[in-house]
Amino acid sequence: MRLNSTWKNRTPKSVTRGRVAVVTGGVVAAIALGSTAAFAADGGHHHDGAFADRPASSVSAAVQHQATAQKAAATKAEAAAAKAKASHLAAERHAAQARQAAVAAKRAAEQAKEKAAAKAAADLKARIASWETPTAHYVLGAGYDQAGPHWAHKHSGQDFVVNSGTTVRAAHTGTVVEAGWGGAYGNNIVIKHDDHTYSQYGHLSHIGVSLGERVITGQTIGLSGSTGNSTGPHLHFEIRTTPYYGSSVEPLHFLRAHGVNP
Ligand SMILES: [Zn+2]
Repeated sequence: MRLNSTWKNRTPKSVTRGRVAVVTGGVVAAIALGSTAAFAADGGHHHDGAFADRPASSVSAAVQHQATAQKAAATKAEAAAAKAKASHLAAERHAAQARQAAVAAKRAAEQAKEKAAAKAAADLKARIASWETPTAHYVLGAGYDQAGPHWAHKHSGQDFVVNSGTTVRAAHTGTVVEAGWGGAYGNNIVIKHDDHTYSQYGHLSHIGVSLGERVITGQTIGLSGSTGNSTGPHLHFEIRTTPYYGSSVEPLHFLRAHGVNP
């Protein structure tokens, strides 16, 4: 140490106790000053070194570690946010697709309903315009113009042999102009059609329509029977050009001419 050397060189061996004490005091003071000076002169080097070697690297590592951890956390958070956003977008997409599918299904159902309604309307229109046999299941009996003991003149219609109580239907759309007792025809119905022809249904056991009633092709108008001048259950069917007896035409020919195959 510089101060010790200075003291050795400058101080005689025969110093008094008090001097020593003084010197010592001065040395102490000098040491104190020197220490301060040395501290100042050597600067932070010594102390820095002693102080920093370990803690500096440790702090740096800790800071670096913290930075890395923060960066990793930020990356993770970004990834989570991106994933959440993607998930949200996918959910919205699915919801939109579901809405579109529901709209399409509703539209399809409406179109199917409209189509069915249009078909029903077309079918009804076609039915109204069409002709039919006056009963569904039958055996053809006595034909038109046939001579027989039961008729005053030749047979004015076509007989459809069926059991009593069989459904009788309008051969074509029209208006009921007769519904009641018809003498030799028994209970009978006459319908006036829009083409100014008439159809007649005789020997009925039941009349199911009223005078003036509008009926359409195939509509049930009564039940077959054997009333009037009849020897057994059957439906007497006539086509006429007027409401009256005597204006009949061949009914099977007429039906065939109107698209029916009796
Ligand atoms: Zn007959």
